[in-house]
Amino acid sequence: MAKATNLGFPRVGVRRELKTALEAYWKGSATAVELLAVARELRARHWALQRDAGLEHVPSNDFTLYDHVLDMSCLVGCVPPRYQWDGGVVDLDTQFAMARGRQVGDVDVTAMEMTKWLDTNYHFLVPEFAADQTFKVSSTKVFDEFEEALALGVVTRPVLVGPLTYVTFGKKAADSVVSNGDLIARLTPVFIEVLQRLAALGAVWVQIDEPALVLDCDEADKAAARGFYDAVRACVPSLKVLVATYFDTLRDNAAFTFSLPVAGVHIDLCRGEGQANTSANDADAVLDAAVALAEGKVLSMGVVDGRNIWRNDLSVSLRRVERAVAALGVESVFVAGSCSLLHSPVDLAAEGKLDEQLRSWMAFATQKLGEIKALSRPRAEIGGELAASDRVQADRRSSTRIHDVRVKARVASLTDDMARRQSPFSVRRAAQRAAIALPSFPTTTIGSFPQTPAIRKARAALKRGELTEAEYSAAMEREIQLVVDFQHEVGLDVLVHGEPERNDMVEYFGEQLSGFTFTQNGWVQSYGSRCVKPPVIFGDVSRAAPMTVRWSKYAQSLTTKPMKGMLTGPITIVQWSFVRDDQPRQMTSRQIALAIRDEVVDLEVAGIRIIQIDEAAVREGLPLRRADWPAYLTSAVTDFGIAASGVQDATQIHTHMCYSEFNTMIGSIAAMDADAISIECSRSKMELLDAFASFKYPNEIGPGVYDIHSPRVPTVAEIVALLVKAVEVIDPRLLWVNPDCGLKTRGWAEVKPALVAMVQGATELRALV
Ligand code: GLN
Ligand code: ZN
Repeated sequence: MAKATNLGFPRVGVRRELKTALEAYWKGSATAVELLAVARELRARHWALQRDAGLEHVPSNDFTLYDHVLDMSCLVGCVPPRYQWDGGVVDLDTQFAMARGRQVGDVDVTAMEMTKWLDTNYHFLVPEFAADQTFKVSSTKVFDEFEEALALGVVTRPVLVGPLTYVTFGKKAADSVVSNGDLIARLTPVFIEVLQRLAALGAVWVQIDEPALVLDCDEADKAAARGFYDAVRACVPSLKVLVATYFDTLRDNAAFTFSLPVAGVHIDLCRGEGQANTSANDADAVLDAAVALAEGKVLSMGVVDGRNIWRNDLSVSLRRVERAVAALGVESVFVAGSCSLLHSPVDLAAEGKLDEQLRSWMAFATQKLGEIKALSRPRAEIGGELAASDRVQADRRSSTRIHDVRVKARVASLTDDMARRQSPFSVRRAAQRAAIALPSFPTTTIGSFPQTPAIRKARAALKRGELTEAEYSAAMEREIQLVVDFQHEVGLDVLVHGEPERNDMVEYFGEQLSGFTFTQNGWVQSYGSRCVKPPVIFGDVSRAAPMTVRWSKYAQSLTTKPMKGMLTGPITIVQWSFVRDDQPRQMTSRQIALAIRDEVVDLEVAGIRIIQIDEAAVREGLPLRRADWPAYLTSAVTDFGIAASGVQDATQIHTHMCYSEFNTMIGSIAAMDADAISIECSRSKMELLDAFASFKYPNEIGPGVYDIHSPRVPTVAEIVALLVKAVEVIDPRLLWVNPDCGLKTRGWAEVKPALVAMVQGATELRALV
C-alpha cells in the first residue's frame, strides 16, 4: 500500500464562507475576531475531511486569508517600505494593505502587483525585493496552523513556497543588482529557523513547493537552490523535505531535482509537453524517467488531476502506481493530486442540478481525495472502484452528447484566408477613420460597468421565475440606458453597453453555446476573496443563435457615438473553462473561434462598427516551457484571426488583455493584428508598454491608466503622468485612453470619479501634445 497524500485543499469553503467573512471584515461589518473564527472553522473542516478520507499526509499552511505567496512575504518579513511596517509581526491590516492598497484619511498606498500563478487563473501578490533586502521571521502563521491541526489530532505536512520559486516570481527594484542566488542565500537562514521550529513542534514532513523547477531554469539559480537544500539537510536533518513540482514535467531539470538532498520529490503526471492532454505514453515515459532517478527517495506521484473536474481513469493510474511501487517499494511511493487541489471546486455533492450522466463523469476536490485514497490501496481491495471507473470512461468515449459531425466538418474545411483580415492594417485604418469619427487619444472603457446588487437581483429573480424574460430584458435595457447616459455625461468617446446581462464574460457565452455545462457551486479562487465558476466544456461546440447582438443594437440606438460590441475570445473561453480532456485543447478552441466569428459578423450586420474580442487569458495559457510556445502561439493567433476576420476593413476590431507580461509574445500579439489593443498597465507604471515600444507594435494601443483591482480612486495628475510616459514610447496617433480592465467588480462611487479623472487626463494630454 502506497501512502495517500495531498498537496493542498481549496480554502474558500464549499459555500464560499471565506469570501463572505473577508468582505464583511473589509466593509467593517465584521470584526477581526469573527473573520479569524471563520478561517479556523474552515481549516478544521478541511483537515477532518482529508483525515476521514484516509489520507496519511494532510497539508497545513495551504490555507490563507488572501494568498499563500503573500503569506510567504509576511513569513520572511519582505514588506515594502510604503506599508510603514514596524518590523514586528506583520499584522492583519498591513497584510491586507499589501494585498489591496490602503486609502484612509491622508494615507494613500497602492497594493502590491498581482500576477497569475504560473499558467493558472490564480493570482498571487508579487514579492518586491529592495536592493538591500533583508529577511527575518515575521509571522507565526505556519507554526500556529501546525499546532492548531495538532490539537485536532492531525500531524500535518506544512507547506511553504520554496526559495527558488519565491525569488523567481518576485520583482527586484530597478536599481538592484542583487541576483536570485544572493536572495536565496539571504533567505536560507530564515527558512532554516522556520524549519527548525516546525521540527521542534513535531513536524515530520514538510512540503516545499518549487514549481519553478518545471520552467526553463538558469544554472546559477539551480546552484543556489542546491546550496539552500544542502543547508537545510545539514541544519535540520530530522525533518523530511518533499520538494513539490507541478503544472508541467521536469524534463531537463529532472536529474537536478532528484539529486537534491531531500527525502522526496513530487511530480505532476497529468500535464505534459505541448499542453496537449498528456497521452498515456507521455506520462508513462515521464514516470519511468522519474523512477530511474528516484532511487533512495520517495516519489510522490501526481496522478489525480488537480486542475480539472474529470473523474480519474483509475485503471490507467493504478497501473502507474503499481509500476512505481514495483520499482521503488511501497514505502517510497506517495499517491497525490497533480498539484494543490486549490484549483478545483470543493465538492460535487453541492451540485443539485447537474444531469446525472455529466455528474457521473466528474470529480471535485472532495471526490479527488477518495480517488487518491483508492489509488494508494492494493488492486484486490478496490475492484468495485475500478469497475465503476471503467464504466465511466467507456460511457464518455461513446456518448453521442459529445460528438457533432457538423462541427467537425466545419473545422476540417477551414482555409488560411479565413484567419486573415481582407487588407493590411494601414488600409483598414484609413477605412476606419473615414467611417468612425474620433478625437486624438480617444477614451473608452474595457466593457463592463458595476454589477450592482439590483442587476444581480434581477438575474436571480429571472432564474427563480419571479421575473419574465420580457421584464428581465426591460430591466437590463434600463441599466444599459443608465450606463450610456453616464458615458455621455462624462464625455467618453467610444461607448460600451456595460455588460449588465453577463454574470461572467465566459459563462455568458458558454450558456448559449452547445457542448457546455455549468455547475452551481463549482467556485475556484481567482484572487483574494474573488472566485470564478468555470464552465465545463464537455463536447463539440457550436452557436445556435446570436448571443449579444440585441443588447449591442439596443445600446447603439441610444447614441450617435460609436458603441463597442463586446465578445470573449476563444483562447480565453478555453483558458477559463474546465476543458474536455478527450481531444487536444487546440481543437476545442478552434471550434469556439468559429462560433465567435459568426457573432462578429452578425454584430457588423447589425450596425456595430467597433467590436472588441477580449483575449484576457492568452498570456496565462502560454505553456511553461519555451519549447512549447510556438505551437501554442501559432494556434492562438489563428484562432483570433478566425474569430476576427469575417468583417469588412471599416469595422474596427479591438482586443483586450489583462496582467500580461508581453515581452515573450509580442510578435504573436502583433500577428493577431487587432486594430486596437487595450492592456493592463497601471500597476506596472507603464513598464509593460516597453515591450510594445521596442517591438514597434504597429497597431493602435490603449495602456490602462488606472488600476481597477483596487478601490482607490486615481488623481488626474497620476493619469496624466502615466500618459506622458506612454507618449514617450508610443506614437501618439496610435494611443487610446482606458482603464486597466472592466469595471464590473467596482462600485459606482469609485467608478464615477475615476472615469471623470480619466477623461480629464485625456483632455489635458490633448492640450500638452
Ligand atoms: N470586457 C470585459 C469586462 O470589461 C473584460 C474583462 C477582462 O478582461 N477580464 O469586464
Ligand atoms: Zn482585463
